[in-house]
Amino acid sequence: MSKLISIVIPVYNESKSLNSAIHTIIHVFEDSSYPYEIILIDDGSRDNSAEIIKQLATENGRIRYVLFSRNFGKDNAISAGLARATGDAVITIDADLQHPPEMIPGMIELWEQGNEVVYTYRQNKNEHSGSFKRITSGYFYKIINNLSDLELEDGISDYRLMDKKVVTILNSLSEEEPFFRGLVKWVGFTQKGIPYTPNARLSGETKYNTKLLAKLAVRGITSFSTRPLYLAAYLGFLFSLLSLLYIPYIVYSLYFNHPISGWSSMIATIAFFGGLQLMILGLIGLYLGKLFMQSKQRPHYIVRESNIPS
Ligand code: UDP
Ligand code: MG
Repeated sequence: MSKLISIVIPVYNESKSLNSAIHTIIHVFEDSSYPYEIILIDDGSRDNSAEIIKQLATENGRIRYVLFSRNFGKDNAISAGLARATGDAVITIDADLQHPPEMIPGMIELWEQGNEVVYTYRQNKNEHSGSFKRITSGYFYKIINNLSDLELEDGISDYRLMDKKVVTILNSLSEEEPFFRGLVKWVGFTQKGIPYTPNARLSGETKYNTKLLAKLAVRGITSFSTRPLYLAAYLGFLFSLLSLLYIPYIVYSLYFNHPISGWSSMIATIAFFGGLQLMILGLIGLYLGKLFMQSKQRPHYIVRESNIPS
């Protein structure tokens, strides 16, 4: 009895590459002895990705799909796929073939050897992503590793294989805005990271511009750490200690009748502390906002159509 492998693929405006991507993946499985199922999640594409997905499903009975009512983001698409996967192992992979499907047999092999999670991280990131993105991504992983108890490799990706056990646990979390790269590390189990060299995007452009990446970074940090909240306490402590130093200065000036002047130092101080306070308020607001969204308990995505009986 062979074990079933589920492939979960989030799709957002990938009409140009979808067909060849799916066929490449199917090809990998034709050469292996594992039965598979492919779960395509259309994340509210504005092109005709949804039609292509439905067409693919009529051609191949192993293809399941879920169409979202609008764009809910890649992580929500992945969680919809994980919730519907029935395989003994689930692989998540991008629809643009940047994640080389040829690695799948190797990942399955590592899983058979007892690794419950086989994740990949980007190696040789030079050619295929802008250097600005590369540098900021490096900083992002440094910051998140310092702030949280996670150890995320620089360039860790959403291309990974997970054992059924891990998927069951991930499905039981009802986290608002899941950040799977962190969550999968957080659940533990035996994990194995392997490097990969990304292919060039088949067609189209990355959906992650700088603004979206910054949002993702903030989400990654705020969902795994409350350490930024300590900043206010530490800074408050530091500055009140420092302000004590003013007392001898004031006494001295009074005694020697030095007029204490200083419009500029006053303005500088007000502006500095005004900014600092706003920044910290904003930081607290970020966490409060997360709490607010979570408390509403809205669904993480809305399904328009699916060929998976629920
Ligand atoms: N994606 C998605 N929803 C989104 C953005 C992207 O499902 O809102 C999918 C996209 O179709 C692709 C994967 O997530 O399969 C990765 O997206 P992209 O290639 O744009 O990101 P990058 O590889 O540049 O990180
Ligand atoms: Mg990509």
